[in-house]
Amino acid sequence: MLQLSQVLLPVDHTDASLHLAALELLRTSENDLRSLTIKQRAIDARRGHVHFSYTLLADVTDETRILQKIAPAARVQVAVPEGYHTPQGRHEVSERPVIVGSGPCGLFCGLLLARAGMKPLLLERGKAAGERARDVTGFWNRGWGFNAESNVQYGEGGAGTFSDGKLYTQIRDREHRIPWLLKEMVKAGAPEDILIKARPHIGTDRLIKVVRHVREEIISLGGEVRFGARVNDVVIEGSAMRAVVLADGTVIEGGYFIFGIGHSSRDTFAMLKRHGVPMERKPFSIGARIEHPQELIDSSLYGRWAGHERLGSAPYKFVAHTSTGRTAYSFCMCPGGLVVAANSEPGTVVTNGMSSYARAESNANAGFMVDVSPEDYPGDDVLAGVELQRSIEMAAFDLAGGTYKAPAQLLGDFMARRASNGPGKVKPSYKPGVVWTDLTTVLPEYIVETLIQAVPRIDKSLRGFALEEAVLTGFETRSSCPIRIPRDPETLECKGVRHFYPAGEGAGYAGGIISAAADGMRVAEALLGQAQKKSAMSR
Ligand SMILES: Cc1cc2nc3c(=O)[nH]c(=O)nc-3n(C[C@H](O)[C@H](O)[C@H](O)COP(=O)(O)OP(=O)(O)OC[C@H]3O[C@@H](n4cnc5c(N)ncnc54)[C@H](O)[C@@H]3O)c2cc1C
Repeated sequence: MLQLSQVLLPVDHTDASLHLAALELLRTSENDLRSLTIKQRAIDARRGHVHFSYTLLADVTDETRILQKIAPAARVQVAVPEGYHTPQGRHEVSERPVIVGSGPCGLFCGLLLARAGMKPLLLERGKAAGERARDVTGFWNRGWGFNAESNVQYGEGGAGTFSDGKLYTQIRDREHRIPWLLKEMVKAGAPEDILIKARPHIGTDRLIKVVRHVREEIISLGGEVRFGARVNDVVIEGSAMRAVVLADGTVIEGGYFIFGIGHSSRDTFAMLKRHGVPMERKPFSIGARIEHPQELIDSSLYGRWAGHERLGSAPYKFVAHTSTGRTAYSFCMCPGGLVVAANSEPGTVVTNGMSSYARAESNANAGFMVDVSPEDYPGDDVLAGVELQRSIEMAAFDLAGGTYKAPAQLLGDFMARRASNGPGKVKPSYKPGVVWTDLTTVLPEYIVETLIQAVPRIDKSLRGFALEEAVLTGFETRSSCPIRIPRDPETLECKGVRHFYPAGEGAGYAGGIISAAADGMRVAEALLGQAQKKSAMSR
């Protein structure tokens, strides 16, 4: 099989022209080509031209002859076979694995363990996806009825359930876990195009289906999933975790404890700290959501092709270095999406973004973020970063009048450091509504100054970004976790606490749906390796 890279074709090309382009690149005829499949399709919108850039797989009659004929041809190479090797063998164990959290990390860890015969028990503090969706949308629509155990951060599917469902990541993937994950998601109901798009996305509407499907498979293989099961405490004896204790006092023993608790489970971090579990502070980011008309972003990036049905709503990404020594960057950009309330504690406001699969809303939004390092905030408490996040979230709630509306400001007013009085042509999408104010009064000065300096720099490559009527909605504080729980690099157990596997975003090993799911898989693989050793020794 040969892999053809960077096959560029115009936006309105036909299937026949794709075929022809492949034959031209291979310098061969139809007779030599058994089949041609698309491995990946990217939109290349650089330098004012818009193309599709394909990576193709060609099954040809005589690879060696073709390669010799076109040598040297960096764009044609022998394809490296992709194949994730799922852990083999059945593992019937007396001490079952207990997984805390049913986000992407917990779910995919659970799926691998269940397929290996381990019958995992998943404990989730929130509710099942359907019931959770009613709580979340009810709160968004009404502005009251916030549920501290069933919200955008807590419940089946974890933090990504109400998201844009972007399924790409920059992590290295030598083991090919990512293509495996995408295929599993398609089997579970995700759209097939996620297998070939360079920037696949699934949308909240389809993601909920996938999450349910994975849960059902785990149960069908003998696993168990309990909702409304918050882990409040742990039992650690002789530097090994022996049990977890639920909020209702139930003690659950097990052989392995995987904590995929996400970045928002602050009470759980505090409980683990009380038990002396090692933790380190790590950098994270703070900023606000910025909204522009999607049409503006489309025409800035796609020019005359803006609005073409094959392109959809344009995504953007930027990094801007400033003289403050800090970088402002876009985070979790949602084309044709909505800004949403993403708090998990009462009396706080937190923003984030989501889209449905169609990405058809009129605004584009993204986190407009600045990096924060542990040196930026006082105190030597390992959870001081959590306190900084919380103080900004509480200030946001107060700034907007204590009603769960979010504080908002026009970008032009933010740049001039003056309060806004109302919207311009961009209508903020945040439900349950916004209060116009001055965000610069709450954010640390180093963040305000970095964002202000970044705007004209970003506008140079993303024309229109500096639109004065663009809306900033505050504040985005949960882009990543402010702590890491150190693990043994081989066994992936927590350093100093045996049988305890901190995993995913909350433990500091992932930042997004796919990387969290892949980390859950790594932990499952490590655990299965250890289980196998243990049973071989006991034989
Ligand atoms: C609104 C929003 C949009 C996002 N959009 C995207 C996107 O488009 N693409 C992307 O890649 N990422 C996105 N993210 C980030 C992504 O969702 C997270 O990176 C990912 O979900 C982390 O996975 P995880 O399994 O490590 O943790 P989580 O998904 O946070 O899951 C942790 C789970 O553990 C449960 N839990 C916590 N503590 C306990 C306890 N003590 N007892 C029992 N259960 C507990 C929680 O209820 C939760 O369900 C978004 C996040 C949000 C909030």
